[in-house]
Amino acid sequence: MPIAEIISIGTELTTGAKLDTNSQWLSLELSAIGIPVQYHVTVADDLEANLAVVKLAVERSDLVLITGGLGPTLDDLTRDVLAAVAGKPLELDAASLEIIKGMFARRNRPMPERNAVQAMFPEGSTILANPRGTAPGIFMEIARAGGISRVAAMPGVPSEMKPMFHDEVLPRIAGLAGGRTIRHRRIHTFGLGESAMEELLGDVTARNRDPEVGITAHEATITLRIVAAGQNIAECEQKIEDTTALITQRATAYIFGTEEEDLQDVVVARMLAAGLRLSVVESATGGLLAQRLLAVPGGADCVGGVLVLPSEAAQCLVLDIPPSSMPGTASADAARQLAIACRERFDSDFALAVTDLGFPHAGDADLGPPIAFVGVADRNDRVWKVEVNLSGDPAIQRSRLAKTALNTVRLALAEVATGVSPDLTKA
Ligand code: AMP
Ligand code: MG
Repeated sequence: MPIAEIISIGTELTTGAKLDTNSQWLSLELSAIGIPVQYHVTVADDLEANLAVVKLAVERSDLVLITGGLGPTLDDLTRDVLAAVAGKPLELDAASLEIIKGMFARRNRPMPERNAVQAMFPEGSTILANPRGTAPGIFMEIARAGGISRVAAMPGVPSEMKPMFHDEVLPRIAGLAGGRTIRHRRIHTFGLGESAMEELLGDVTARNRDPEVGITAHEATITLRIVAAGQNIAECEQKIEDTTALITQRATAYIFGTEEEDLQDVVVARMLAAGLRLSVVESATGGLLAQRLLAVPGGADCVGGVLVLPSEAAQCLVLDIPPSSMPGTASADAARQLAIACRERFDSDFALAVTDLGFPHAGDADLGPPIAFVGVADRNDRVWKVEVNLSGDPAIQRSRLAKTALNTVRLALAEVATGVSPDLTKA
């Protein structure tokens, strides 16, 4: 297995002014051709720091992809650094200089003296064409103890870097993968925390398992990422299928989708497939449910209506519920009444209600822990109810509540379709 390293150069990255998206993009590209990335390094526009970083990379990595620092200004140091690390002088490439001059001529501007530096390359290096900008890239094979390291330096601007990687770099490094292929699959779950999911899955997430299964959390969605390496696509796909089957066997109640699917996509898809309509009344989620459901293609065809009603007074007024029948604070019973009234109002097949106790100010000692209630009602006034404890990271409370609500609809639909009751205590 070759070792690959990605170096992002630029003070705008180390100061936080700009996010390094090149490393992420390049890593995905390398992994798609079976070259694993071992290191990401981000370094400021500083000569000493660049020399140290590139020297180390050449010593420890078989492939080094560098972006940034190829511009014409004094803080662009990549070509000097490569020359120094390889122990080669910089040479002027007349053809590159003509191309750069021609670019300025076409824009009716004289070429600033400084731009000539972009036609300088370390002796023996290969010039990588850049039809979209003035900075050509540089490809070099640098000798090191026991072998060589392949180094490709590309512009920092993503719209120049990406085509250069595909057209100029990829053909020069494809052989490094040694014929190995890598395939991925992401499986999304909701309803269990990261550590509980890990425990449920047992040895599936063990390190050095083949294929490897990683576990990540994003706003209460726990994602399992299967990474399979093999001699060909078929071998990878088979490993992924086998592991997916094992994960499904152990965690089926929590799995809602794969790859780009989110909970709202699944709810809308099932509604559309079954010819059902959903209406929603939401409070603390503040329109998040409307936003998510209606952003899905086809969402408007199966969502009868969404009401955002933050107070019980507004809920009673709009849904014609006698205030005396409501408990006065959010409760499971309030969620039940809201779901039933909302379903009737829109004459939909299902209704989803979210109500809460003083959220988002909840958590005050006086108010107790922040709690919300989710209710789902069907045409037979059957109701699925979930109590949601909103303690935890406040930044994701709203999103977590919206997801819990959508997941409750998902489970209710599954129960109607299969007759198997979901375990809502875990939602
Ligand atoms: P440079 O080639 O270093 O002069 O970079 C030119 C511009 O490209 C920078 O000002 C950034 O806007 C962008 N850029 C550079 N490096 C990155 C990176 N790693 N990720 C995303 N954008 C970048
Ligand atoms: Mg720069």
